[in-house]
Amino acid sequence: MPPKACLICERKDPKSVRQNGAFVVTCKQCGRYLINVGQAHIDADPEDLPLLSCAARQASESGSTLRIDHSSIPRLIAAHKGTSVTRNLEKLLQFLGRRAKHPSDAIDVYSESDFTVIDTDEPADVDVYLDWLEKDDLIKIEPNVDFRRVILTHHGWQRLQTERVSGGKPGTCFVAMSFDPSMIEAFELGVLPAVETDCGFTALRVDRKEHNNQITDEIMAGIRSAELTIADFTGHRAGVYYEAGFARGLGREVIYCCRENDFKERHFDTSVMNHVVWTDPTELRTKLANRIRATILPKA
Ligand SMILES: [Zn+2]
Repeated sequence: MPPKACLICERKDPKSVRQNGAFVVTCKQCGRYLINVGQAHIDADPEDLPLLSCAARQASESGSTLRIDHSSIPRLIAAHKGTSVTRNLEKLLQFLGRRAKHPSDAIDVYSESDFTVIDTDEPADVDVYLDWLEKDDLIKIEPNVDFRRVILTHHGWQRLQTERVSGGKPGTCFVAMSFDPSMIEAFELGVLPAVETDCGFTALRVDRKEHNNQITDEIMAGIRSAELTIADFTGHRAGVYYEAGFARGLGREVIYCCRENDFKERHFDTSVMNHVVWTDPTELRTKLANRIRATILPKA
């Protein structure tokens, strides 16, 4: 039986489809996530459930679908705890930017269900952040009874599409890696919290289609605009080698990573680089954060 309520937030309106031994649940608040058939409840401190909701929703907004199981829950919650106010403001602006395709597009924000696009357990925070973005002239808000209708201003678009300066935009990081479903945990629980929570950088995400190795203009622009590129060679995608080479050619810092059981397959031209070698997402997070601090932060 598909769940009648969302297993994370208990909203009554989720869509559930059974797929290969799991339910794909789509919830207004938590986005789209996977849960094993037979997992009847989520084992976590009830106070932490809103943060799990944030983890699922933010992954879903950026195009990946998290599998929620007993082993991943504590790490998912930890990755969304303690996020700074400044970082949450950026998250909210980026959410609006992803939703708006055109300058005239209005985005309706319901703080009751949309608070999960930032890291908080307090829905009212979203309204406060929206007010701050409006005071900074990044958005315009049209208040409604139970939601806010938001339009990005010229300044908002400028902030989101900062002109490509030489050296890249300080504090931004492009991630080149395989976006195969088997790497979602490495990204969500390893790379992302290392970059954003631990080092205060913003990860530039380019929506990629699975199994698509194409280097698009958007990817090139992302590398050009970023101060730092992280290249994870697990899976040895040709695209990752190309993207790392392109970043180095622009004179950007590149941090090389690879999962240990895939490390011996690395190509000769990168084997001289000092790789961050990892076995699981937790180790990746720790080692990567240390490497970013050692490589980049002392220069700031
Ligand atoms: Zn939910």
